[in-house]
Amino acid sequence: MKPELTIVISVYNEEENLVQLLKVIKTDIPVSKELIFVNDGSTDNSFDVLRDLKAKEETPDTRIKLVNFSKNFGHEAAMLAGLKHSTGKFIVCMDADLQHPPAVAYLMYRKAVNEGKEIILAKRKSRRNTGITKKLTTWIFYKFINLISPFKFDPAVSDFFLVTEKVKNIITGQFTESNLFLRGIIQNIGFEKDFVEYEEGERFTGKSNYSLTKLFILSMEAIVSYSKLPLYLSIYLGLGFGLLAFVVAIYSVVMKFVGNTPPGYTTIVVLVSFMASILFLVLGIMGIYIGFIFEEQKKRPVYIEKEVIE
Ligand code: UDP
Ligand code: MG
Repeated sequence: MKPELTIVISVYNEEENLVQLLKVIKTDIPVSKELIFVNDGSTDNSFDVLRDLKAKEETPDTRIKLVNFSKNFGHEAAMLAGLKHSTGKFIVCMDADLQHPPAVAYLMYRKAVNEGKEIILAKRKSRRNTGITKKLTTWIFYKFINLISPFKFDPAVSDFFLVTEKVKNIITGQFTESNLFLRGIIQNIGFEKDFVEYEEGERFTGKSNYSLTKLFILSMEAIVSYSKLPLYLSIYLGLGFGLLAFVVAIYSVVMKFVGNTPPGYTTIVVLVSFMASILFLVLGIMGIYIGFIFEEQKKRPVYIEKEVIE
């Protein structure tokens, strides 16, 4: 029988947290469920712990699936794999370190069932346990992407969310790009959406696996995936330089007649400034074409059907 709820948990070096996590899930989520643990190339004993848990803790009400990656592909890829393997009517994605309280996941499930919502996003009230550098870089990233992208991203929403089976099928079936910024897609796919607020827990043990480098790469992927503005930048530069070249040209020509300029000076200045502006303009035009190719190769769905009545 189809489980009510699938819980996708991405695991990267979480051996110390898994037993406790399963315990809390079992007590706090009293509904038939399927747990999908995606082991994202952990270098510790996470997978052995998971195998052990499956052998000892699986019950008809709490089924356990394990997906094991060949190496570390990152949190996004792990969530996507979990979504693809899910069979529940509702699917929740959450972290393995107990920062996402299972009780909140249950709340999200209740909300989706009672209110008929398709997507429930967990919104953290405050960020605990986060260093000032991470807070600052995250703040800059969201300010920047919200400035240059036509889509909007909420900094308090992360990778803790619920979707219905229908929305899951769209995400796994119709988004064919390999650079999937999942939390961006979830927030911008439409559908009836709601939020639950939660207080982020402390990491049970261990330390964060999201290094600044990983965050930087994720940010780059998000920006490139959601904004074409950087590609168009040279058009603006070209126009700017064009204007500047014009002013410089007039100034140089005037100076040639009234001032005392060395021979050849005017020609060089005028030529160089016009060349620079033309160069940037041409680059910008290429940027526009690359932008279109870029949109095309993503093969994103052109539209999404919410339902079909026949
Ligand atoms: N994670 C993963 N692959 C990675 C890094 C992290 O699957 O390459 C998992 C990790 O095990 C955890 C979740 O993603 O369940 C969030 O990671 P973490 O707690 O390190 O990030 P933070 O909470 O600091 O943002
Ligand atoms: Mg964490």
